[in-house]
Amino acid sequence: MAALNFEISHRSRDSAARAGRVTTAHGSFDTPAFMPVGTKASVKGLLPELVADTGAQIILNNTYHLMLRPGTDLIARRGGVHRFMNWARPILTDSGGFQVFSLADIRNIDEEGVTFRSEVDGAEVRLTPKASIEAQNQIGADIIMAFDDCPPAQGQEPTAGGMLRHSLSPQEYAIRNRQAVGRTIRWLDLCVQAHRRDDQALFGIVQGGTDLELRSYCAEAVAGLDLPGYAIGGVAVGEGFDQMIEIVRHTAPLLPDSKPRYLMGVGYERDIVEAVRAGVDMFDCVLPTRNGRNANAFTRTGPMRLRNSCYMEDDRPIEEGCDCRACAGGAYSRAYLRHLFQAGEMLGPILVSLHNLRHFQRLMLDIRAAIRDDDWSFLRSRWPVAFVTA
Ligand SMILES: [Zn+2]
Repeated sequence: MAALNFEISHRSRDSAARAGRVTTAHGSFDTPAFMPVGTKASVKGLLPELVADTGAQIILNNTYHLMLRPGTDLIARRGGVHRFMNWARPILTDSGGFQVFSLADIRNIDEEGVTFRSEVDGAEVRLTPKASIEAQNQIGADIIMAFDDCPPAQGQEPTAGGMLRHSLSPQEYAIRNRQAVGRTIRWLDLCVQAHRRDDQALFGIVQGGTDLELRSYCAEAVAGLDLPGYAIGGVAVGEGFDQMIEIVRHTAPLLPDSKPRYLMGVGYERDIVEAVRAGVDMFDCVLPTRNGRNANAFTRTGPMRLRNSCYMEDDRPIEEGCDCRACAGGAYSRAYLRHLFQAGEMLGPILVSLHNLRHFQRLMLDIRAAIRDDDWSFLRSRWPVAFVTA
């Protein structure tokens, strides 16, 4: 059996959206899919059964963090990450590239990879295409990602020897961007060669920043390899909605129609709806849990800051009609949630994370229904937050 099978069951009549199902060695997930982020093999604060209860069918783990602690060889000895974290369903790992380029204390970037200082013990760590794939083979996720060169943000670049970033001029950015695309394409071949497990599906990644010609060039090279799926990387790094969606509309159709397309690190409700309409099938984002931990709830009409004093005596749940564990039956009031955050109680972040994750899963359910029924007006009426114009 192939490591991954993708079946498209419905195609939108007036957009490139499609609904389907991806099957992996650990079961299936419906697409378009939203993957909660379990950075260090834990969706922060939530038991795996609670994560599944929100409707999540696949989660993401970060290779960078797991390499540094507890080490991917230790996870392999524990029988792989599914068993280690007690999540039996599909898992995707990123390559570590994005975190290295955005978080790490980088010592050196060269044509073979990146050397950085571990934030855990200060040791020098070398990440190359081969090392990333070996680490991901050890972690054992169902979908693994190619190690790519991703400049962290438009106009910014980590400086060797420290966390300092300096702004790039447009000319410097263009050069850095071309260099990143060249490396991403070369490194993909090395990733394919290094990949050792036929029960894991390796996705290639298209880089190119905001340069659409470079995106085309990269997409052609990446799609030239017969891979089980493809991703669009290097977005949601500060380019803004209009540019992000321009990149996605340009790049998605350049990727094979019969394979799942994954837009990395995106995003807000509106980003997801428009990317789905451009033909994207998979999403991940830390926002539901990160914002949840900070008392910021997502609602269909926009964000809600639960620390706000206006909720002090508000008996309503976060969102009327929400079927999450925090809202259903009016279980937990805004007043109570506000109190939990004011008092620094762990239950606050847990409940709002649960609500936020359910919010995104309900959005995906409605998106899949909109595709199936060819009815986007239904989505528009139920999800005002996804159709706001900035
Ligand atoms: Zn809720």
